[in-house]
Amino acid sequence: MSEQKSFAFDRYLTYEELAEELEGIAARHPDLITLRSAGESYEGRKILAVTVTDRESGRPGEKPAIYCDGNIHAGEVAPSMILLYAIDYLTSRFGTDEEVDHLLSSRTFYFLPRVNPDGAEKYLTTPHLLRSSVRCYPDKKAADLPGLYPCDIDGDGRILTMRVRDDRRGEWRPSRSDPRVMLPRGPAERDGPFYRLYREGELRGTAEEPFDEQPGPWGLDINRNFPSNWHPEIEGGGPYPTSEPEVRAIVNFITEHRNIAGLQAFHTCGGFFYRNPYQYPEEEMDEQDLQATREIARAGEEVTGYTDEKSDNCSTLTEWAYEHRGILGYTTEVWDRLARAGVDRTQYRHSVDPREREEMEIKLMQYNDRELGGRAFHNWKQFRHPQLGEVELGGWDPKFAVQNPPPELLRQECYKNTRWILKHASALPQVEVEDVLVTCEGENIFRISARVGNSGYLPTCGSNKARKMQVVRPDSVQLQLPGEAEMLFGEAEQEIGYLQGYISGHDPRGVGSADSCARTVWVIRAPEDAVVTLRVQSERGGSEAREIPLSGVNRRDS
Ligand SMILES: [Zn+2]
Repeated sequence: MSEQKSFAFDRYLTYEELAEELEGIAARHPDLITLRSAGESYEGRKILAVTVTDRESGRPGEKPAIYCDGNIHAGEVAPSMILLYAIDYLTSRFGTDEEVDHLLSSRTFYFLPRVNPDGAEKYLTTPHLLRSSVRCYPDKKAADLPGLYPCDIDGDGRILTMRVRDDRRGEWRPSRSDPRVMLPRGPAERDGPFYRLYREGELRGTAEEPFDEQPGPWGLDINRNFPSNWHPEIEGGGPYPTSEPEVRAIVNFITEHRNIAGLQAFHTCGGFFYRNPYQYPEEEMDEQDLQATREIARAGEEVTGYTDEKSDNCSTLTEWAYEHRGILGYTTEVWDRLARAGVDRTQYRHSVDPREREEMEIKLMQYNDRELGGRAFHNWKQFRHPQLGEVELGGWDPKFAVQNPPPELLRQECYKNTRWILKHASALPQVEVEDVLVTCEGENIFRISARVGNSGYLPTCGSNKARKMQVVRPDSVQLQLPGEAEMLFGEAEQEIGYLQGYISGHDPRGVGSADSCARTVWVIRAPEDAVVTLRVQSERGGSEAREIPLSGVNRRDS
C-alpha cells in the first residue's frame, strides 16, 4: 500500500483533476503503470490511456489483455470514476491480494477512463446536457429554428423541468398521493390543476405552444461512429465511420494492441450489460461465442446485480469490437436507480397502466426521501420566466440522480463494477508450457517433446468469430538453440493454430473435454551442457518461456 491516501470517490472529477490523480498513481507505481495519450480530442485534450500490469512478470503487450473505457457519452461521468477506482484498486492491492497478484502477473489492463474529455468537461462545468462530442453537428444553424432551447434560466446551475399551469390543455396532473409526482392526465379527467411540462429553457424565434425542444448544436453521438454496420442515416452517427478523433483513437488503440481479448465499455444508466449480437438474432451468432458472452455476464451479475440484455444499436464500440475484431465485450450501463427503488426496469420502460405508473413514480420518490436525503428531486418552486410568466421549476436532478449516481453512492458503484472487470479479465485465455520431455537419442543427439496448453476459459484467439475472420495470428512454439547446437528435425518456430479454452469442453450432455493443448517434437544436436529455450506465444493468450538444460537427460522436466 502506498503512503499517500487514495482519492475518496465521493465526487466527480474534471479533466485536470482526473489527469492529476492518474499522474499521482502512475508516479507511485512505476512498476505497474504506464500513462500515455491515445490521441487527442476535438478540442485538443489528451485521451489518457493507462496500462496496468506487473512488468516484472512480463511485457504488457505479451500478456492477454482487457480493454476498458468510459465516458464516450459526455454526461456518463460515473464510468471515468469507476475506471480510476479500478486502477487504484489494482495498484493499491498488489502484493497483498492474491486475486490481484494473479491478474497483474498474468494479464494486462488497458484503461481509457475518459475517452470524450471535451464533452465531459462541458457537462461537469456548465449546466448543459449533451450526448457526446462538443463538435457542432449537423452543420445547420440550430439557433435559427424557433423553439425552446434548454438552459439554466434561474441561474441555480441546473437544467431541470418547467411546469406551466394550463387547466384547459395541460397533459399532466400532480399525483393525489404525492403532489411532487407528475402523472399523465387520464382520458376522462376534467378537474385540474393540469400542467404542461417542458425542459427548463428559453424561447427563441417565433416560438408558439407547444414549443419544440431544439436539440442544440451538439448532435453527434460518437458511440454510433464505429465502422460496423454504419450507415449515413444513423442519428448522430457523423459523416463517415471514425470521422471523430475520439473514435479514431479508440479504433487505433484496440487494433494496435493485438493482445486485447476482452472489452468493457462503461456507460450509464440502468443497471445492465448490453451484449452481442447487436444487429441480428442470437441464433445467427456463433454458438460458443454466445455461450461465452452469456456465461461471463453471469459472473458479472453475481458481483453487480446487473443482468445482460441483447442490444439492437449499431455502430457502437462493443458491436464493432466483436464484428470486426472478434473481441467479446459489454456495454455496461451502471447505476441502477430503479432497482434500488424497487421498480422493475422493463415495467418502467413499457407500462402504460396509470396505476402502475403512479406506484412506480411514488416508489422512486420514497427512495429519494428515504435513501438520498431528498436531494435527488428538486421540489417545484415558483419562478417568473422572462417569456412565459409564472412557471414552476423542479424535478429530478438530471445529472447526479438520474444519469449518474449521487456522489454518496459513487464509491459502491465503483467497487462493484471493478469486481466485474476482474471477473471478465479472469476469463481470458492463458498459454503455458505444460510439460517438456528430453531424451538422449545418441551421442549429443536430443529429442525434445513439449506440450503447451491454454488454461483459460476462452480460446487463444479470443472468440470463434476472430478465428473465422483470421484477425489473430496462430499461436506458435519456438525452440531457441545456442550457437553451437543444430536442428536435425523440426522447424525452430512452428505454428500450432489456436488452442481451445475450457469452455469448449462444456457439453450439454454433461461430459466433454476441450482441445486445449498441443505437442511439438524436435531433434537437435547439441553439447551435453547446452541450454535451449522453449517459448510459446499467442497474440491474445500471452506467452511463456522456459529454459531447458540438456544435462542429465532421460527425465521428465515439468
Ligand atoms: Zn452511453
